[in-house]
Amino acid sequence: MQRDHGAGTATLDQRGLPTNECLACGSNVFTIRAVFEDYEIAGYYLDAECAECGSPLTAPCPVDRPD
Ligand SMILES: [Zn+2]
Repeated sequence: MQRDHGAGTATLDQRGLPTNECLACGSNVFTIRAVFEDYEIAGYYLDAECAECGSPLTAPCPVDRPD
């Protein structure tokens, strides 16, 4: 883990564990790179970052959902 001790908001490296919610700030809005086909999202990269605080994290996908 890595924390930014700058004057702004601290970021927390959360990569490796798929999550629905940023552990640093609680936001569930992520910045991702998505692939579009026929006007719909066909897929997305799991390498993401929190849209609120910029913490790097791993985006969730359905196969990560526990039964
Ligand atoms: Zn965050």
